[in-house]
Amino acid sequence: MAASLGILDLQGGVHEHLDHLHRLGVPTVRVKKAGDLAGLCGLIIPGGESTCLARLLKIFDMERPILEAFRNGMKIWGTCAGAILVATENIGQAPHLGLVEVAVQRNAFGSQLDSFHCMATIPEVAREPIPLTFIRAPKIVRAGHGVNVLLRIDDYIAAAENEEVLVTVFHPELTPSLAFHRYFARKCGLQPAKATETSAYEHDWDRVSWMRHARIAG
Ligand code: GLN
Repeated sequence: MAASLGILDLQGGVHEHLDHLHRLGVPTVRVKKAGDLAGLCGLIIPGGESTCLARLLKIFDMERPILEAFRNGMKIWGTCAGAILVATENIGQAPHLGLVEVAVQRNAFGSQLDSFHCMATIPEVAREPIPLTFIRAPKIVRAGHGVNVLLRIDDYIAAAENEEVLVTVFHPELTPSLAFHRYFARKCGLQPAKATETSAYEHDWDRVSWMRHARIAG
């Protein structure tokens, strides 16, 4: 069986990630229990609510199996709440899985109404500017040893990675861009579909109107 990417399916934006990966032709697994982790080369921990996700991880006894799969080589991408779950420091609160040396400040932009959209160029990920959607996002305020900063905006880090973990405080799955999903799939050793097969979709998307548009970063 071809290696697959899993999406933690306990709470949050699961379908949007599934949809992006399907468009790239990447096999996916919805991860609801420990057995679903078998054979995954990567796991996406989606955005949602980190306190809720952390509780559900405990209730469904998923922490230990995720840490075990991670130690056995499964890569992890945390988006927004997912990034909070994998950070080693959660300012003012206890950390959760603690897999990448970054410090996060939850809800650092304000309330849900302070959500916004902007564009940024991230050369490691794509040649063209990528749309970014921030929804009641955390800020990464520090990155430790061995962490590569992919995008810094103003006083915070918006995307970073080490060998095993990718963190983004924004939501690529809520934009037309497949660039981050392609990037993560490659990080996990997969060969996603070429841009030509997906570009029509990537350029045919209506922006969500409620979002405030911010300046171009990067
Ligand atoms: N504010 C949420 C938290 O702290 C994260 C929001 C999101 O994932 N979009 O968990």
